[in-house]
Amino acid sequence: MTHILHRHCRESLPTVDTGEGVYLIDTKGKRYLDACGGAAVSCLGHNHPDVISAIQRQAERIPFAHTGFFTSQPAEQLADKLIELSPASLSHAYFVSGGSEAVESALKLARQYWIEREQPKRTHFIGRRQSYHGNTLGALGVGGNQWRRATFAPLLAPSSFIDPCYFYRNAMPEETRIEYGERAAQALEEEILRLGPESVVGFVAETFVGATAGVLPPENGYFRRVREICDHYDILLILDEVMCGTGRTGTFFAFEQEGIVPDIVALAKGLAAGYQPIGAVLLNKHIYHAINDGSGFFQHGHTFLAHPIACAAANATLDVLASGLLDEVSDKGKSFYQRLVEAFGDHQHVGDIRGRGLFWGLELVADKASKMPFKPATQLHKRIKHIAMQQGLMCYPMAGTIDGQQGHHILLAPPFIINEEEIQHLAERLTRSVNEAIASVSL
Ligand code: PMP
Repeated sequence: MTHILHRHCRESLPTVDTGEGVYLIDTKGKRYLDACGGAAVSCLGHNHPDVISAIQRQAERIPFAHTGFFTSQPAEQLADKLIELSPASLSHAYFVSGGSEAVESALKLARQYWIEREQPKRTHFIGRRQSYHGNTLGALGVGGNQWRRATFAPLLAPSSFIDPCYFYRNAMPEETRIEYGERAAQALEEEILRLGPESVVGFVAETFVGATAGVLPPENGYFRRVREICDHYDILLILDEVMCGTGRTGTFFAFEQEGIVPDIVALAKGLAAGYQPIGAVLLNKHIYHAINDGSGFFQHGHTFLAHPIACAAANATLDVLASGLLDEVSDKGKSFYQRLVEAFGDHQHVGDIRGRGLFWGLELVADKASKMPFKPATQLHKRIKHIAMQQGLMCYPMAGTIDGQQGHHILLAPPFIINEEEIQHLAERLTRSVNEAIASVSL
């Protein structure tokens, strides 16, 4: 294998050949049930005819035209569709090639907005610990994943961090979920006051934390309080829905269920279901007008902005979601959760099962009563992944950080087309993989 695959360069990986529904098939003919959509990407499975033919049609019509010279029909249609799906205050869309680029663009839009409003001292972002917003320097700078940041720390812009809304780990004894959510949001106000609101560009958060904490749904009321605080101090609220958006939690945007609207939202992964690389930023009309009526252009840009084939794939994906699939996510999610509870509810090493829609996380613990995580040296996440792949299951186990110690989680984000029988197989294979991996480590 001469192709260098980022973190897997020392691992020997199977070579993917083709896909069929929720299965990926390697060159030896082995089938892998996709329980995580890669990384919450493949919401339509792996061979959806509508998306494939939309890509073919667009490639034949016009594959690329530089956005410095042209807009394109697929880009205009996609912007219209997304704005139609959005609350009224989000009025414009900007298309890039992935999640990090979307977050990077969101941060730069936010900063430019304050420059247009003649407040150049606003240079500081507030993010959250246990969050991931991408691997480019700007996105890494607002992310709280210490392992990813460490090597590049001197190159990252100054940001500060508050705790995410993490009931299982951070709630006090006797605290209700509502009380905890209120307290977790209050940390934002304290941080804004510590920094001085006049120095803050915005607050950046994943509506549901994904890759660093094994799915953390917000507590009811948390984001309403966050929105109030941002409004009160005139701070932009930037939500990263790269992973949890585009229907994953049961509504097109996860924030819809929280009763709030952000000023900027970033989307990517599921937007074209993995059939093409694409990301999007949707922005509030005030931000659009400040920039448009001010300097007149967003000081940013990439060669592959609003790529016509990627936009065509995203249009087809949104059409499939709108044809009824999005409406199935909540119900399928309930049955998915039931299967997880049957399989892991009484499991002595599964401390928490949390999520919504088809976005679920299991938190693994060495000891359920004390919530003590497995030791980092167990490399439990790698063992689970390896055994699951042997069993023909693609799931996304990871090591996050809990109080400076490593904790282990499994992220589950299957394609929305998954059926009952496949959910059953998924739960069986996952149970075997988790049990075998845990049996192989000394506690
Ligand atoms: N934000 C979130 C919430 C993500 O989960 C990810 C990817 N895991 C990114 C941003 C970065 O996206 P990409 O890998 O497409 O650059």
